[in-house]
Amino acid sequence: MTIFSDNFKFIKAELTECKVCPRNCGVNRISGELGYCKTNAGFSISSICIHKGEEPAIGGELGVCNIFFSHCNLQCVYCQNNQISCNDQIFKKPLSFEDTLNKIIEILKNGINVIGFVSPSHMASQVKEIITGIRNSGYNPKFVWNSNGYDKVETLKNLEPFIDIYLPDFKYSNTKDSYEFSDANNYPEVALKAIKEMYYQKGSKLNTDENGIAESGLIIRHLVLPGKSAESIKLLETIAEEISTRVTISLMSQYFPTENVKSHKILSKQITKEEYNIVTNTLYELGFINGWIQEHESQNNYRPDFEKDHPFEE
Ligand code: SF4
Repeated sequence: MTIFSDNFKFIKAELTECKVCPRNCGVNRISGELGYCKTNAGFSISSICIHKGEEPAIGGELGVCNIFFSHCNLQCVYCQNNQISCNDQIFKKPLSFEDTLNKIIEILKNGINVIGFVSPSHMASQVKEIITGIRNSGYNPKFVWNSNGYDKVETLKNLEPFIDIYLPDFKYSNTKDSYEFSDANNYPEVALKAIKEMYYQKGSKLNTDENGIAESGLIIRHLVLPGKSAESIKLLETIAEEISTRVTISLMSQYFPTENVKSHKILSKQITKEEYNIVTNTLYELGFINGWIQEHESQNNYRPDFEKDHPFEE
């Protein structure tokens, strides 16, 4: 049974034998076959909301209209968005394309001019359909690709005319951690290639408007994990050697152990101030000059609840 086969040219071209992300499943998502991400060709979206917790250059004080996709092509055991990212959960009915656009446009009418796609790596075709729909509706916001870094170079090349700002994670420098924590033993190699492609497209300069709001560029995020400061240092060295020290880095301390890792021998802990300081010192020593570090206490601030209509409000 074909569940999705109308005018969506990117979905039609790319999801009959899906190799959109590095998992390369080859399944027909249009006919309802499911690959690793367990999402079909619909608009599987958990939330469309205003989010003010991103880096200062992403959206500024007004915030960004974030589209949180359901499921993910990584399954990180410590994921802070686990309510929506776990591929074994049954998600809400996919939104229609029209409802998706209407919800976004309602937010754009508030003056917000940045749209962020969160965990979009398995939804690249739907992202292009949404951007095309928004542009055809007469809006021209900036579009942010806020991914886990587990992206495919070919997919990113096709996204070049659509995406203004790349905001990828760079999570791991070693395959042991990437396999054990996120079920992807080739993550370090794949993510490095993907981020190099983003860098090739955008360069090292983060272009901003007169209010300091990003208009185009690349920001690499790295979340420091407990007991893993040596791995974080290795990862920063890799960026310095293989990409550039002029690229913008967002070094995050906001890790907190979710229920899923309460008894994990490493991930049940919070990162200490000392661990975070070691990594931030290395950032400066290596010569990175652009970006943000967080207050160590940030781990107490980030608690989204996707059961709510507004997941980031108390
Ligand atoms: S997007 Fe989903 S189905 Fe397609 S290759 Fe990736 S994990 Fe597999």
